This record gives sequence, structure tokens and C-alpha cells, in this order.
Amino acid sequence: DNEQIICAGCGVHIQTEDKNALGYAPPSALKRDVIICQRCFRLKHYNEIQDVALTDDDFLKILNEISQTDALIVKIVDIFDFNGSWLPGIQRFAGNNPVLLVGNKVDLLPKSVNQTKLIKWMQSSAKENGLKPADVMLMSASKGNGVMDVAAEIDRIRDGRDVYIIGCTNVGKSTFVNRLIQEFGGDAEQMITTSQFPGTTLDLIDIPLDDGQTLYDTPGIINHHQMAHFVDAEELKIISPKKEIKPKVFQLNEGQSLFFGGLSRLDFVEGGRQSFICHVSNDLYIHRTKMDKADELYEEHLGELLYPPGEQTKKELPKLVSHELRIKEEKMDIVFSGLGWVTVSGKGTTVKAYAPQGVGISIRKSLI
Ligand code: GDP
Repeated sequence: DNEQIICAGCGVHIQTEDKNALGYAPPSALKRDVIICQRCFRLKHYNEIQDVALTDDDFLKILNEISQTDALIVKIVDIFDFNGSWLPGIQRFAGNNPVLLVGNKVDLLPKSVNQTKLIKWMQSSAKENGLKPADVMLMSASKGNGVMDVAAEIDRIRDGRDVYIIGCTNVGKSTFVNRLIQEFGGDAEQMITTSQFPGTTLDLIDIPLDDGQTLYDTPGIINHHQMAHFVDAEELKIISPKKEIKPKVFQLNEGQSLFFGGLSRLDFVEGGRQSFICHVSNDLYIHRTKMDKADELYEEHLGELLYPPGEQTKKELPKLVSHELRIKEEKMDIVFSGLGWVTVSGKGTTVKAYAPQGVGISIRKSLI
């Protein structure tokens, strides 16, 4: 009876029926001494996550716990790395608990971006990813914009419940929580306690709320699909925008390509001459070339002209995988997870977008 078997990695019930569902293990795995689910197996042996996957067993335990409590979940994502910082599978664990989705780093958006459109896009992306948030908001944890509104909304939606703040590393979760503490806390040091989460090696930060409930800051989860994991600290500084992005406009003809450092590439396969508006870190070098020279250029100059990656990190960089995209609407954004996006106009345009294997590329209605 499979129902009694528990994955030694993440603690889910093992099942052998549905390959795409949580807890799946092939029947042969049941003969082993230590039984783990396929997801944990992949993670352990190939350092690879599956679609349903969360990268951290301890995080799964936290989610399991949250699913059994009555709480508000505040999920923070980086609007410049929406897919990379998404953390799949939250709805399943949320159960009936409401989820407030907060897009952080709004200060980086150029003025031309319409925030209402961005929120709409976040809502529909959330839906596509199986999440039905109670609300979607934008903020800048570092600058403070919107933080009080988010705090007020947390208080409204939680309605007397505990609050769990979740998000993967680098979304600005600590910056946000520190701000909450400054705003609401008296003596922060006396107020905050950390507690070890049952069954894990993780510390949670507990912040008491007025009504005796608690706000828990969960540890950041590493999502291995993020571009950030393919570069070193110095290179990460180059690709992460630090201040408002200045869009860079390239007038391109069919048959031209753009390289974003050596981390992604965009080919203009078909269409009339038009502008490609690049929304990436001001420090990231964009190189224009001819499409038929692009492969050779990449071979020869990855790690120097096409930087980042550097000479070291390029050795670990997964190969670039291309996605052909047809622009059906007037204006679309081609989103390179972790780098930014390129706005392309013109119906009937075909482009090929390249990113390292595992790093997401998506397309959406333009935010401009
Ligand atoms: P955590 O890993 O999720 O706790 O993220 P941190 O709070 O440590 O922030 C990660 C990085 O993002 C740091 O370099 C922060 O300075 C930066 N950061 C956090 N919030 C914002 C924000 O609202 N805007 C901008 N531009 N940067 C932010």
C-alpha cells in the first residue's frame, strides 16, 4: 500500500500512478532501502528541478506546515525576474489560505512603463501558473514606495491570522521585512525572535503582530533556474539593475541580432525595419551583429566581448537554447528571465530569443 510510504527527501506521500503529480516515484524505486520521490531524485542526482518542483526540501516542509495552518501567505517576486523568482506550486500548499502577490523593485521601471498593465500581466501570469492571488501589488522595498500600502493590505487580508512571507533569494524579502520592523517595531531586537522550524535546519524570524499573531519571515529559497546562478557576484552586479532603467533603442533590419552580454541573444528573423527597445540593466553591454555571423561571434568572443559571463563562469554556462516567437499584437515584450525585456512592435514580426537552457523566456503584451 503506497499510501504509507513517505519520501525520505521531502516528506510527501509517495505515489506511483501519476508521473506529473507530487510524490511520484517509479515502481522500481520502492525496492530501494531509502525511498525518495522522482523530484528529489532529480534534484539530488542531476541538480535539476522539475516543473512542479521547489528546490529545497526544507522549504517543502515549511509549505506543508503552512498548508495546515490558517494564515495569509505573502509571496514576493522580483518584477525583473518574474519567472525566475516565481516558485511554482504555492497554490497547492496554500490550500484555502489567501495569497497576496507582491512584485518588488518597482523603482527600476522606466517611466514609460504602465504599472496598471504590469499588475494585469502579473495577475494573468499568476493564473497561468495556477495561482489565484487575493490581490496583486507593486512596491519598492528599498526605496519605500508602496510598502505602507502593502503593509495595510496584509493587515486587511490576514484578518487576524498569522502571516508567512515567502520568496526566493534576492527578491528583496529581507529588505521588505526590515522595513516592516522599522515601521511597526518598537525595539526591534527585543521584538524579533528566531525559531527553528520543526523538522528542518532553518531558522524562521518571528515578528509579533498587535493582536498576538505572528509574521514569519521564511528563508529565501534558491531557484536554480535563475540567471543569477550562472554568474558570479561581480557579474550579477552588472546584470541586476540598480536604478531606473534607461531603455536602449536599436533600429534593426531583418537578419540582425542583439547579444545581451553572452547571456542571451535575440535574432530579428523576419519583418520590416523597426525599433527594438531594450529594458535591461544600464551596465549590461548590448552587442549588435549580423544574424549569420552571430554563432561564430559567440564561439569566439564569449567571456570577453560578450560579457558576462566571464572566463570562469562561461565554462558552467548551459548552452543557449532558442525559442522562435511570432509577434501577433501591435507591441509585445520578449522577457528574458533575470535580465529584463525587449519591446518589439509590428505585426507579423518573427524573432528568435535565446537563453541558457533552463532560464525562462516569455512573451507578453507590451507594458509601454
Ligand atoms: P532577499 O534575498 O530576498 O532577502 O533579498 P534582499 O533583501 O537581500 O535584496 C536582494 C538585493 O535586491 C539587494 O541587493 C537589495 O539591495 C536589492 N533590493 C531589494 N529591494 C529592492 C527594491 O525595491 N528595489 C531595488 N532596486 N533593489 C532592491
